[in-house]
Amino acid sequence: MTDAVAECNIKVLCRFRPLNQAEILRGDKFLPTFQGDDTVIIGGKPYVFDRVFPTNTTQEQVYNTCAKQIVKDVLGGYNGTIFAYGQTSSGKTHTMEGNLHDTQQMGIIPRIAEDIFNHIFSMDENLEFHIKVSYFEIYMEKIRDLLDVTKTNLSVHEDKNRVPYVKGCTERFVSSPEEVMDVIDEGKSNRHVAVTNMNEHSSRSHSIFLINIKQEHVETEQKLCGKLYLVDLAGSEKVSKTGAAGAVLDEAKNINKSLSSLGNVISALAEGTTHVPYRDSKMTRILQDSLGGNCRTTMFICCSPSSYNDAETKSTLMFGQRAK
Ligand code: ADP
Ligand code: MG
Repeated sequence: MTDAVAECNIKVLCRFRPLNQAEILRGDKFLPTFQGDDTVIIGGKPYVFDRVFPTNTTQEQVYNTCAKQIVKDVLGGYNGTIFAYGQTSSGKTHTMEGNLHDTQQMGIIPRIAEDIFNHIFSMDENLEFHIKVSYFEIYMEKIRDLLDVTKTNLSVHEDKNRVPYVKGCTERFVSSPEEVMDVIDEGKSNRHVAVTNMNEHSSRSHSIFLINIKQEHVETEQKLCGKLYLVDLAGSEKVSKTGAAGAVLDEAKNINKSLSSLGNVISALAEGTTHVPYRDSKMTRILQDSLGGNCRTTMFICCSPSSYNDAETKSTLMFGQRAK
């Protein structure tokens, strides 16, 4: 990526998954044409991002091009956020998590976990590290702790430095990548237990994994803190397609509201507006000190290549363009 991109702290990356079996059998067309490494053309219209990943891009390539640097920055005391946006089944979870226990198919989160500990082992022996993680989800503007099922409605508070945080959320100290993976597995199984239809649920809730890194020099007692939010957003699809009514419609409106407030925050940051509307949703409040400014923000725009999803794909691409 160019220097101009590196200076702007919001990066927007677009990834297309391959056609799946059902789409191939149905005879769906493959829509995108890829041009260079930053442009995708759909319906004759080019969409330019910091980077576009065609369907055959590996998990390792995705990680190396965009997430690896963030690990270094967070260890250097910066905050960051990586999130995945897109309609249900566009590849958000594949990108963020992938297969946690398969070295090739691992997504960004397990690779970050490995990378953090690799860096630490190669750093100054006089540095002491304290790494803790939290895992929660936001559903209908309610925050649920995925590491303690009894905590179903946590609130957002500000500490004495006015930094927002989720009050009472479980924090786990971790000392190896394996421990990070165990925490994720635990959170995921809690999530499964609490809901009847996991696919439906994951398409309607935002899941947030937080890695907090504190380091202290044993002699000088100098401290450095950085944190990284890893967000798998709710599906961005419009309600109308499913003909929802009542509670389901309320739910969908709520999801669209928090996604659109995220879009508003990102575009305000990209434009350099003085008023950034962080307070419009719980998610943007929580992410406030890890989005924009001095922070490292990366947004993955995940897309289906199928002609069946044409309209959703275009609206997803437009969302990504707002951040530019
Ligand atoms: P989402 O989280 O956006 O709903 P998923 O990540 O669960 O979507 O992806 C839907 C399906 O497509 C999964 O079976 C996943 O393994 C597969 N998939 C997604 N992205 C890719 C990709 N880049 N390459 C291969 N398979 C993918
Ligand atoms: Mg998912």
